[in-house]
Order: sequence, then C-alpha cells, then structure tokens
Amino acid sequence: MVRAAPIPCPENPDMSPSRPTPQPGISEIAAYVPGRAAAPGSAAIKLSSNESPLGASPRAIEAFRHAADKLEIYPEGSSRILREALGEVHGLDPERIVCGNGSDDLLHLLAQCYLGEGDQAVMSQYGFSVYPIITQAAGAQIIMAPEADFTADVDALLAAVTERTRMVFLANPNNPTGTYLAAAEVARLHAGLRSDILLVIDSAYAEYVTAPDYEVGVDLVDRAENVVMVRTFSKMGLAALRIGWMYGPAHLVDAVNRIRGPFNVNLPAQLAGAAAVRDTEFTAQLGRHNAQWRDWLTEALGSNRLRVVASQANFVLVLFPSADEADGAFEALLKAGLIVRQLGVYGIPQGLRISVGSEEAMRRVAAILNATVAP
Ligand SMILES: *Cc1c(COP(=O)(O)O)cnc(C)c1O
Repeated sequence: MVRAAPIPCPENPDMSPSRPTPQPGISEIAAYVPGRAAAPGSAAIKLSSNESPLGASPRAIEAFRHAADKLEIYPEGSSRILREALGEVHGLDPERIVCGNGSDDLLHLLAQCYLGEGDQAVMSQYGFSVYPIITQAAGAQIIMAPEADFTADVDALLAAVTERTRMVFLANPNNPTGTYLAAAEVARLHAGLRSDILLVIDSAYAEYVTAPDYEVGVDLVDRAENVVMVRTFSKMGLAALRIGWMYGPAHLVDAVNRIRGPFNVNLPAQLAGAAAVRDTEFTAQLGRHNAQWRDWLTEALGSNRLRVVASQANFVLVLFPSADEADGAFEALLKAGLIVRQLGVYGIPQGLRISVGSEEAMRRVAAILNATVAP
C-alpha cells in the first residue's frame, strides 16, 4: 500500500491547531433538549413532545409497509409524489414546495441560505427553541423580542429589527406557549419589515387551530417575495418518519434546493407522507379529538392557583404559582407514569407543557394536578 508522506510544516507551528475547531459561535450553542421519553418497555404515557394520541393514518402505515419492498433504490430526490399530494390537498403549486427531513431540516437550510456572520435574526422571547440554534449555527446573532402575556408582540418584534436583521422567525401558533397571532397581526408584522428581510412563518400546529381569524401563511407567501411558510407531519402522527415541507416564492425555493441534501426525504417517508396528506378524514379526526380534549383540559385545570394559557395547538401551557410547585407537579405526574415537559430551558420554570393525549391520559393529568396543587 502506498501512503502519501505527511508534509511537515515546521516554519509555522501555530498554523496547525491541535485539533479541528468548529466555526465561531458553534461552541456557544445550547443544544436542543427533546421531550423526556418513556423508558423502553414502560407503560408511561408520553405527553412531552406533542405527538399524535391517535397514532398515524392507517393509509400512511400501509404505504410505509409497501416501501419495504424497495429499500435498495434511492428515493426520487425532489419528493415529487409528496409535493404533488400536498399541492393537490392544499391547493398549492408543487413547484413552490420543498420537502425536508423534518421541518427542522428546512429551518436549518433557510438559516444557512439567508444568515451569515454579522447578521441578526429576530425571534420572540418564548419562541421555538430551534430558532436560536440555527441562527448561531449560521454565525448570526439572536435578537429576542419580549412577549406580552406569553404571546408574540408585533410591536416588540418590529422594534427589534435593525439594519443587520435578515430574518424574522414566528411560530404560529407558538411552541411552547400555544398562543397565536391573528392574520391581521401577522400581516402587520410583515408590512413593518423591509422587503429584504425574510419572514419565516412556522405553522407546525396549523392542523389544530380552531380560531376563525387565523391564517396559515399561504396568503402572505402568495403576495410577497419575502415570506416562507414551514410545516411538519410530526404533530400529525408521523414524527418518527421526519417529514417537513415549506411553501415559498420561486427564488427562495431555488436557493434551498441548491443546498439541501439531494435525497433528504427517504422513500418510506415520501410514500407514507403522501398517503397521510390525502387521508383528510384522519386529519379531521385528530383535529376533533384535540379540540375536545384541549378545551376539556383547559377547563378542568383552570383554578385560582393554576392558569392554563389559551392554546391553539395540541398542547397546553400550564402556569403554576411558583417554579417549585411546577417541579412538584412534574414529579407527581412522572410518578403516575405521565411524562410532561418542563420549561426551564425556555425561561418558564413555573410552567409545564402538556400535550393533549387520550381521554384517559387527560383525566389522569387533571386529577393529579388538581390534587397536587393546594387550592
Ligand atoms: C414540533 C415543531 C416543529 C417540527 O419539527 P420537525 O423537525 O418537523 O419534527 C417545528 N416547529 C415548531 C414550532 C414545532 O413545535
């Protein structure tokens, strides 16, 4: 075997660091903390990651099984069958859709496309925790705008914009608060932004919204060149498959397609995703279950000592009088096999985020919390 001889560099020993060094900013990133998972084999109920309590669409499961016969073949790289299904069901041009390995993949790609050293991205105080990570990963600076009562505040977001701002991230509804901005407020946010600033509307929970004054983001994308809507299948029963999608202007779709992984969505995900999109009855059923038990839980927990923040998503944010009481409630639920999400990393240590689960899970959560928190 022939080996290349190492080339010594004795002149300048300082030029050869002792180990590879990540780009500036990477080491400062606080890594994403996922919802606590149940121990394998345990009977615990996971209410910490906003997953579907009704499983996946039976049609998606069937499509996934079919894919098992074709595992040796690369998937079609542009996720065409999935984009066509999305286009058909949502009335969108498939050419302006990009699919990703979870919407997380797409959010990273967007930040990589539009943010760099010296740039700033604006996001709201309790916004989804992936936005700071992708901003710092791109070498840019995070600018947090304060919220008003756990809700994104358009005036504060606009006030945070500087000439260095290149992106604004808005989850609508937001995770972990569950609150949303009405269409008119999102339009006001967009109207206040320079046309060179990209507004990312992350509509991860769109399927669960019941507020009549909500708009998912399509209207704004259709009338502006600087808006993109990002969506996911994760909250609709397919979290394990990692499927996200975005709808944006042609120039942005072109930019993202240039840098995305050439086969970023695997074949079982493409087939199951397309089947899930077309299974609108299953989607509607999930929505009905969610609305019923979200309302029920909100009502059951609301008391003088507990506050449930009005939610448009598939979880609720419950606020306790103190962080200690929230921790105590978390432990009491855990002991009963109910895993919920603590929010210290979001700066809400007095809160717990609880996914809407089965009827049985909701009744047990309510009983335990109402027994734990002194009246
Ligand atoms: C869950 C969630 C996502 C989805 O991420 P995936 O990578 O698609 O699983 C995106 N945005 C928000 C606000 C979320 O809560």
